[in-house]
Amino acid sequence: MSPSEIPADPLAPRATPDDAVLLTARGIRKSFGDNEVLRSIDLEVRRGEVVVLIGPSGSGKTTVLRSLNGLETPDAGILSFDGGPDLDFAAKVTKQGRLAMRDRSAMVFQQHNLFPHMTVLENVIEGPVRVQRVPKAQAIADAEALLERVGLAEKRDAYPFALSGGQQQRVGIVRALALKPDLLLFDEPTSALDPELVGEVLKVIKELADEGWTMVVVTHELGFARQVADEVLFMDGGVVVERGAPGSMFTNPREARTRQFLDRIL
Ligand code: ADP
Repeated sequence: MSPSEIPADPLAPRATPDDAVLLTARGIRKSFGDNEVLRSIDLEVRRGEVVVLIGPSGSGKTTVLRSLNGLETPDAGILSFDGGPDLDFAAKVTKQGRLAMRDRSAMVFQQHNLFPHMTVLENVIEGPVRVQRVPKAQAIADAEALLERVGLAEKRDAYPFALSGGQQQRVGIVRALALKPDLLLFDEPTSALDPELVGEVLKVIKELADEGWTMVVVTHELGFARQVADEVLFMDGGVVVERGAPGSMFTNPREARTRQFLDRIL
């Protein structure tokens, strides 16, 4: 078989751990009416890196994630993937540019957002088939491999209501993986789960991190953050107050605001 005939492994992340910068965000600003929610956010994510955003509720973490994949349009700032053409939000961003950005990442939400009237398999292939025009047989084969990967192969034909919250969220993760994004975005992926279901979802995310997926994760699970994060950003009031490796930030934060937050949560 020549290399071009070898089928792409649907389980393999497109990113491999190296030093190349995948995503650069500079000076991202966003207001909702008078509420200035992001006040110039800078962020750099290298391929294979896991960046974790922590901070109090309302500090702007979700808005950062949504800005990275085009669910929110920043008022100003620059985004670029792979050092490619910049999207400059202070200038006019074309629809084409926005859609190209959206394709680079896939988001896992706090609530899994599965379509209730579709089976697990139908939920997973919906994006690839309808949006990305992947042939259905290929999308099904990829989906089955991914479901197997998270231990849900036998739930292929089940409807979301028949699954536990943890299983639903694992399907949510598979749905994001099926889009074969460069970047996975997780928005508090376990905060809607009963405590006994949190572990199974964090385990899957950790495995993906270990496999080299590039991700930005918003979470309050600091033990998990310490395990997976290459870099932690502590946000408060729409700014990044402090950033660094989790070990040093959690044991010895530089900023008083970080310390106060960690004291409350740890
Ligand atoms: P976090 O994820 O840190 O809890 P968010 O990014 O969700 O913070 O929210 C930051 C602020 O932006 C909050 O004050 C929130 O009420 C406000 N906000 C977020 N989304 C919207 C929206 N679509 N319309 C108006 N205000 C919003």
